[in-house]
Parts: sequence; C-alpha cells; structure tokens
Amino acid sequence: MLDDFDFIDHYRVCPDKGVDLDAIDTRDKGPFDKRKRGEAFTRDAIEEIQHLQYQLFTESKQSLLIVLQAPDAAGKDGLIRKVLGQMNPQGCRTYPFKVPTALQAAHDFLWRIHACTPAAGMVSIFNRSHYEDVLAVRVEKLAPEEVWRRRFDHINNFEELLADRGTRILKFYLHISPEEQLDRFRDRIDEPEKHWKLTTSDYQARERWDCYREAYYDVFEKCSSDAAPWFVIPADRKWHRNAAVAGILRETLRQMDPQLPKADVDLDQIKRLYAAAKEELQQRHSGK
Ligand code: AMP
Ligand code: MG
Repeated sequence: MLDDFDFIDHYRVCPDKGVDLDAIDTRDKGPFDKRKRGEAFTRDAIEEIQHLQYQLFTESKQSLLIVLQAPDAAGKDGLIRKVLGQMNPQGCRTYPFKVPTALQAAHDFLWRIHACTPAAGMVSIFNRSHYEDVLAVRVEKLAPEEVWRRRFDHINNFEELLADRGTRILKFYLHISPEEQLDRFRDRIDEPEKHWKLTTSDYQARERWDCYREAYYDVFEKCSSDAAPWFVIPADRKWHRNAAVAGILRETLRQMDPQLPKADVDLDQIKRLYAAAKEELQQRHSGK
C-alpha cells in the first residue's frame, strides 16, 4: 500500500478549493499503520533526499523553496531539525521571519522575502513567510482590509515569477488540534530547557484560533496553484508529520530530476596529466 501511496496527491490542496481544516483529522496517520513504519520510511526518504539535493546543487539550474506555516507549537522547528535540516547546508538555507524590523516595514511586504529566495541549485526553507502578511496581519488587525486583501494577488504573481525562473515551491501547513497545542505548551512549562520558548503571544494567538482558521481558509482557496501548492499535514503525531513531509519532498525532488553536470574536460587529457603528476612524484621520492 505504501508503494502506491501518492504523497503529493493525498495532502495537496487543489487550486481554487478552500479547506475545512475542522474536517481533517489532526491525528491522521496517512498510509502508515504504526509509528515504527513511519519512522523507517522517513529514514529511507531522507537518504534519497540527501542524494537528490546533492544533484540539485551540482546541477545548479533549478531551485526549491519550502514554506512552513503553522499555529504555535505545531512543530516547524522539529520538522526542520529532523527532516529538512538533514539536507547539506552548503546548498540549503533556513530563514525565520519574525515581526518585521523598522527597515523591513519601510518596504513592501515582499522585499525581505524576495531577498531570501533560493538561487539556482539552492534550497530555501522559510520558517514563517510572506503568508504572515495575510494571516497575523489580518487577524491582529495590523493593516486595514484593503491593504491585506490586495496581497493575495501580489503573492500569486510573486510565486509565479519564482516558478518561471525555475523554482519549485512547496508550502506546508502543519495541522494540530487545540488540545495537542495546549499539551505542548504544558511541556514547555514543565521542561526548563524549553522555557526560552515561552511567550504570552502564543496564548493571545490561541484565543483567536477561529479567526486564524478563517484566514487560512482564504490562503488555501486563493493561493494554492499547480506551481506553488499548499499541503495540509496532520501534525499531532510528530512522526507522521515528518514522514508525510519527507514523502512529498522526496517525490518532488524525483520529479525535478536534477542531473549531475557532465564533465566539460577531455577525460583522456586529465588522465595523461594525472599519470605525469604521479610519475613526477615518484621520481621526487626516488631522488631523495
Ligand atoms: P516565532 O516564529 O514563534 O518566533 O514568532 C514570530 C512571530 O512573528 C509570530 O508571532 C508571527 O506571527 C510574527 N510575524 C512574522 N511575520 C510577521 C509579519 N509580517 N507581520 C506581523 N507579524 C509577523
Ligand atoms: Mg513561537
């Protein structure tokens, strides 16, 4: 069953279709009957992802942008640590987007984003993204409606521009329940090592859970295209979250089919140079 499971098709939000998040089980296990199978799958997928990413980097033509959005404590950091961060850092960068600085806020909302998009051969991972400008900004009323509403078109045009340049875009929403979120907030209180993560804003955002749901509905409906699809990933089970994202990422890289560049030298000439260098070294040693 796992062999024929189409990860992209299963989790993808179809263009122009909204998503009723309440209808998607946050504890869903996808094609996996148990945790051990999911973990083994993730390990295999990561190995192949590493191989394909190496080819992408050396090919240096296409690029990949991975966008992560989620409620607080849904596991963006864990996903980066366990799966996405396993790619070679030489060809992969992670960018966290926080409340805009004064300089960033003095520009259009895509200015800071565009600067972090991946060059040819590279992968960029966005921990939060330009979608905050139609999510947090909308829900927290940081800009009037006529400002944020126009941004859906700006975002679609921007992502189309990136796609035209050879950038594949994958956008993941990590879907957790309010119960699971509260359990994870509790772990943060109980574990001193996690105290640095505590903020009161987590609780403020939680109070506006339904407003965020509404804002995400519009994001999924207006901004999931074939070139830049959204994926809704049930994330109460961390192992499932990791496996589903690894499956989608591996399949996408397979489709991109990056190729090692062909040698643009005369191999016979290189072999002659090598033989001469080796002989020169031997003569130097025998002369001592
Ligand atoms: P964290 O990712 O948990 O460190 O939190 C970053 C905070 O920055 C979140 O509360 C986001 O909602 C907020 N944030 C990120 N981008 C924006 C933005 N463009 N406008 C307003 N708030 C933002
Ligand atoms: Mg946080």
